[in-house]
Amino acid sequence: MMRAMTPSPPTDQVPVPESAALMDRARAVIPGGVNSPVRAFRAVGGTPRFIRSAAGAWLTDVDGNRYVDLICSWGPMILGHAHPEVLEAVRTAAAHGFSFGTPSENEVLLAEEIVARVPPVEQVRLVNSGTEATMSAVRLARGITGRSRIVKFAGCYHGHVDALLAQAGSGVATFGLPDSAGVPASAAAETIVLAYNDVDAVRAAFEQYGDQIAAVITEAAPGNMGVVPPAPGFTAALRQLTRDHGALLISDEVMTGFRCSRAGWWGLEQGAAGAYDADDAPDLFTFGKVMGGGFPAAAFGGRAAVMAALAPDGPVYQAGTLSGNPVATAAGLATLRGCTPAVYQRLDEVAGVLATAASHELAAAGVPHVVQWAGSMFSIFFRGEPVRDYVDAKAQDTAAYGAFFHEMLTRGVHLPPSAFEAWFVSAAHDDAAVDHVLAALPHAARAAARAGLADGRHEGPPDSAHTQARVSG
Ligand SMILES: *Cc1c(COP(=O)(O)O)cnc(C)c1O
Repeated sequence: MMRAMTPSPPTDQVPVPESAALMDRARAVIPGGVNSPVRAFRAVGGTPRFIRSAAGAWLTDVDGNRYVDLICSWGPMILGHAHPEVLEAVRTAAAHGFSFGTPSENEVLLAEEIVARVPPVEQVRLVNSGTEATMSAVRLARGITGRSRIVKFAGCYHGHVDALLAQAGSGVATFGLPDSAGVPASAAAETIVLAYNDVDAVRAAFEQYGDQIAAVITEAAPGNMGVVPPAPGFTAALRQLTRDHGALLISDEVMTGFRCSRAGWWGLEQGAAGAYDADDAPDLFTFGKVMGGGFPAAAFGGRAAVMAALAPDGPVYQAGTLSGNPVATAAGLATLRGCTPAVYQRLDEVAGVLATAASHELAAAGVPHVVQWAGSMFSIFFRGEPVRDYVDAKAQDTAAYGAFFHEMLTRGVHLPPSAFEAWFVSAAHDDAAVDHVLAALPHAARAAARAGLADGRHEGPPDSAHTQARVSG
């Protein structure tokens, strides 16, 4: 059955005059009023809340409303907002100057911390965003192999890099069509887009183009179409096929890195502390989000022999005026140092309690859903069956999510404003914050049930929601 393009989006259930006024002003001077599309609330309707301040697990908006934060800046605020030790590190660093354009000690300390956590990463180059990290990793892979084709998976988001803003809607191997205006067909034509978790499709792509593929890039455990963990053996198959054909494997841990475990998703899949075979690790990793502690800092890294191809030692150029910024690296370092085993244990606990309660209430309200996990990252798909790839992810009831989202928002819980995102928790989510979320859940579950019924539970989200699925942050 067809649905109208716009599924009568829920509007604000309570007036937020200050946010609404700021949004009007923003629209005049900022395209769409936002500096990253998902913030505009297009997938859920209503007025984006302008946040004035944040502390611990809580956000306060310009109208004075408080929310338990389940976005956590899309991952970075793993210790909670304005964490005292991170704040102190930032204050100290800032007092010593903001940017030098020379090497500085914090860069070394942060690189050492990353290398110590993720053994297959012997060297990292620091950059300013996840987008830069993946862009540079792809260039490095192309420079090393002398090949130009890249394999990516539909529903995996790697930032707004031209060649990676391509995805196909079907499970068939196709050459990517640009997913955004302004991306030249030539840039996307080098990108082969496959269905996630489909080993046969990867094998077929390598049979046909094996000697032209520079790299496979994959989210270590996808979180940008909602959480869709790799099926058992999928990551290993990617490693085997890339190795057999002389291509590099790039594991994008911008979201999962230092969140799923102290060594990210790689740590979880490897069994963290256990011995590993260097040949089985990805060639390149990309990091961002948590490692910047809320500031612009990201990285790509791998074996020293691979990283040696970068300028100034090697022929692959890459640079950045603010890369390794002393304040950003201080925040990142303090954040990573704060990510102790107790922190990861608390994240697991909080995520477990929230997901279990949400699932329980949705079931009680008769709302079809499935909870999927990658470490403490989880998302709830408003769909009855497991989600293995982007086609599955799109077959959820986004109208039900919109109703759920707005009921939670009204009750002081800020979820991601899109059904295609993970829910993020922090170590600052104490029992009071958790209880606040638990109290809101039954109401939101009933709102989702009403929306689902009113909607007849059509298949497929509106087009705007498709876009939100891969445009994070
Ligand atoms: C957020 C994200 C990016 C992009 O990072 P930015 O800092 O927003 O440029 C890349 N890859 C993944 C997996 C991400 O989650």
